[in-house]
Amino acid sequence: MVWWVRRDLRLEDNPALAEAAGEGAVVPVFVLDEKLWGSSGAPRRAFLAGALAELERASGGHLLVRRGEPATELAAVCEQLRAALVVAAADFGPYARRRDEAVGAALAGAGVELRLVGSPYAVEPGRVRKADGTAFRVFTPYSRAWVAHGWGPPLPRPERLDWAEGPGGVGVPAVPATAASIPEPGEAAARRRFEAFLRDGLDSYAEERNDPGADRTSRLSPYLHFGCLHPRTLLARVDARRRSHATWRSELCWREFYADVLWHQPDSARTSLQAGMERMRVDSGPLAEARFAAWCEGRTGYPIVDAGMRQLRTEAWMHNRVRMIAASFLVKDLHLDWRRGARWFMSQLVDGDLASNNHGWQWVAGTGTDAAPYYRVFNPVLQGRKFDPTGAYVRRYLPELSGVPDEAVHAPWEMRRRPLDAGGYPDPIVDHHAERNEALARYAEARDGAEHPLPGWEAGGRDPLRR
Ligand SMILES: Cc1cc2nc3c(=O)[nH]c(=O)nc-3n(C[C@H](O)[C@H](O)[C@H](O)COP(=O)(O)OP(=O)(O)OC[C@H]3O[C@@H](n4cnc5c(N)ncnc54)[C@H](O)[C@@H]3O)c2cc1C
Repeated sequence: MVWWVRRDLRLEDNPALAEAAGEGAVVPVFVLDEKLWGSSGAPRRAFLAGALAELERASGGHLLVRRGEPATELAAVCEQLRAALVVAAADFGPYARRRDEAVGAALAGAGVELRLVGSPYAVEPGRVRKADGTAFRVFTPYSRAWVAHGWGPPLPRPERLDWAEGPGGVGVPAVPATAASIPEPGEAAARRRFEAFLRDGLDSYAEERNDPGADRTSRLSPYLHFGCLHPRTLLARVDARRRSHATWRSELCWREFYADVLWHQPDSARTSLQAGMERMRVDSGPLAEARFAAWCEGRTGYPIVDAGMRQLRTEAWMHNRVRMIAASFLVKDLHLDWRRGARWFMSQLVDGDLASNNHGWQWVAGTGTDAAPYYRVFNPVLQGRKFDPTGAYVRRYLPELSGVPDEAVHAPWEMRRRPLDAGGYPDPIVDHHAERNEALARYAEARDGAEHPLPGWEAGGRDPLRR
């Protein structure tokens, strides 16, 4: 039986593997698809290569890696093995769906069944719907329906699991070099991380999740993305009667909600969910390019933004609160297209995930269905003071600010004339208050020209632009 491994790099709680094992000896096959490999940044490639190496060890060296078009490679493997069944977990992104259709058709032509069993989610995208059968567009009602739908218990590792030899492969790819230090890949590391979070983080999650200096979130996102753990395994250890547990479960639900939105609207990976927001004027030209480069390199002069962008460079990961602040700054202070920021994040993040990333960006940019209203503009100084009051987070990534007192660490330019200076840290590249007004003016312009109300504009609500 062929188990086609994709985003489920684990042996525990794996319905596709259990299904294949129930049919006979299993040949695990991973197809290195140039379209996905080539478009992933170095951190994701390195994580994937490491997780594949672990899976190869865990399967007693039986993992067969092929390189090429999945339809061609799988058909060839099945022919050589005389296999009549390929089992895989369903995947839901726009490319994955097209690929699976093509593979299903190619295999069917050769008399081989492609059976999709399980998915990377507790509740499959498309499963939970409104009473009228349409998709949810707002998170809270979706999350209620998601909880009501529920999920089964984690599946134990198959009792009988025989591996079989496959025909020649290219071997697990070498781990590419990456400038960032990435977390240890694989299922065993994922489990250790989860146990550590259960011990030290989950009970205080509600209080500490917005404190980037404390760094107490689970950091399970890359493991979830590559399926080194299944969310069902995590949810089984959550006691939703406890506030922190319920808050964490809700974060897991955001991941499922965004996958659901992408499944219903595959174009939302590239275009704004609010079509009217496509009218928003964005900057281009040399100054815009210079500002984009400063943002990417973490030298905008706003410490919380820069610390986040440097964390991204050094760890291929960024705290959620800071992702929101850095993304807001790109869109509303630098007036750049959210897609540029989303692409940069995808190239740098080890947890880069099309649904969570692009919808996270759309939420911040005010272009999503269930988004923060565009006129809510994050002030990077106030956000820094509120969520990183002692400057522990910014000092960790901006050593230039080590000598700056706590009260000035989020606005070091305010103390320039004092004896202690901010060790070469740049002045802000833009003035936040001026750019906030510019962002609101552009929003008003887009809104006034739009055929339908833009998001965040509740009928009869207070209009912040006309105060
Ligand atoms: C602009 C922007 C881009 C983002 N890009 C990604 C991305 O590419 N990949 C990604 O996994 N997450 C993304 N997120 C969501 C979130 O920032 C990360 O999931 C989270 O920071 C991961 O850290 P953690 O594992 O410690 O999370 P925890 O706080 O421990 O949460 C547990 C899990 O819940 C899920 N989760 C938490 N918050 C969110 C959220 N807001 N949206 C969707 N899922 C969530 C993740 O799978 C996470 O691992 C993005 C958010 C924003 C604002």
